[in-house]
Amino acid sequence: MKEEMTLLILKPDCVAKSLTGEVLRRFEQSGFGIRALKMTRLSPDLLNEHYAHLRDKSFFPEIIAFMTSGPVVLVALAGEDVVARVRDLVGPTDSRKAAKGTIRGDYGVDVMVNVVHASDSKENAEIELRRFFAPEEIQEPGSPVEKSNR
Ligand code: UDP
Ligand code: MG
Repeated sequence: MKEEMTLLILKPDCVAKSLTGEVLRRFEQSGFGIRALKMTRLSPDLLNEHYAHLRDKSFFPEIIAFMTSGPVVLVALAGEDVVARVRDLVGPTDSRKAAKGTIRGDYGVDVMVNVVHASDSKENAEIELRRFFAPEEIQEPGSPVEKSNR
């Protein structure tokens, strides 16, 4: 059976505050596996597509400005029920309303500057993974190295 995967974007605030390792650690510690990882700068065109559901909002230009303000880290993350469980680990959109212990609750600033994007459904995860990664950039799970081989 195909692994369930979700698309994460560690946003410019996450990278600028050197929280990349901490955020990835939380996901790995929760039992999920990284299948693709790359640092990049997102283009306004790609963001227009990614945030199309917000295009009519007054704050849309601010989101584009924020998301293009610095590099981001794109991640394909795999595991059982990863889409829903990662949304729980991340917390609600507004960081000020997010519980301590969630990523946004611990490190987010407000409703816009909120550390990480995570796909909100399996259907959107597949679309978003295709948007940001070429198929060959996504790896099969690796097997842990045998202790005797180290
Ligand atoms: N956003 C914002 N103001 C809002 C709603 C959203 O600045 O009132 C930004 C915020 O960075 C959020 C992103 O737009 O993460 C996408 O919004 P969405 O409603 O999809 O929230 P998410 O799925 O990220 O929790
Ligand atoms: Mg969303």
